[in-house]
Amino acid sequence: MSAAPDRLLFGVAGIPEGCPEDSSLKAISYLSQTGLEALELEFVHGLKMAGETANLVKLTAQQHNIKISAHAPYFINLGAEDQGKKMQSQEMLLKSLRIAAAAGASDLVFHGGYYGLKAPEETYLQVKKSLKEILSIGRSERVSTKLRIEVMGKKKQFGSLEEVLSLCRELEGLYPCLDFAHIFARDGRINSYRDFYQVLEKVAKKLGKAALKNAHIHISGVKYNQTGELNHLNLEESEFRYDEWLQALDDIGVKGTIICESPSLTSDALMLKNLYRSMREKRQPLIF
Ligand SMILES: [Zn+2]
Repeated sequence: MSAAPDRLLFGVAGIPEGCPEDSSLKAISYLSQTGLEALELEFVHGLKMAGETANLVKLTAQQHNIKISAHAPYFINLGAEDQGKKMQSQEMLLKSLRIAAAAGASDLVFHGGYYGLKAPEETYLQVKKSLKEILSIGRSERVSTKLRIEVMGKKKQFGSLEEVLSLCRELEGLYPCLDFAHIFARDGRINSYRDFYQVLEKVAKKLGKAALKNAHIHISGVKYNQTGELNHLNLEESEFRYDEWLQALDDIGVKGTIICESPSLTSDALMLKNLYRSMREKRQPLIF
């Protein structure tokens, strides 16, 4: 399932509501019944998945034609001032990458970490150095799962759109996870068709059009204040203009995976999938 899809696939982060059991294997068969196409395994509160389960996830996902990605633990902070914490973060990211690969994940999403008391430029250099080491180990182990650094929603978190795109441009083998709820919440501005279109153009300009042909995108409604993101909301309950956002994706011809992170995972993901289908029936992609 690592080949780039010819359209957008829609899925959820973690066990969807309505799934009869709290298990990734059950989530895969449940998702395929609902018509969704992707599952992001949530290692966010700790890496508990055993190698055996990971192998079963891979097989089950292949049987049900569900695209698998994974999200590394929130514990990871590559910007940590404490050397021990930084090393633990690197180890945790590598372990997550190996388990994600065993589970057949095409992508592993992670958070870069926090600025702490450091200047953003200093944090950038530290995160870059850490990632360079991890990417080189991943290459030597021939891991095919892509590392994706996420654009973050809180101002104290490393990972503005500019930081993420610059790092991905500088480091071979590093890709972005474009979280549009975070991009919006970080300063409350990016929330119109034109804004979304410009963000996507910026991605193509910095990383090449290929970055939009196999994109990995997070979406949800979001509540925010002057510090950035506060919490996720369902799309209907949020100011986020998801219809304009999806239209911009479709007009530019973005392909790849949309992972829904709303509290109502399944219903928001299905709503977006249906909206996308009706958009595609109406018109052809304009450019690229
Ligand atoms: Zn995340």
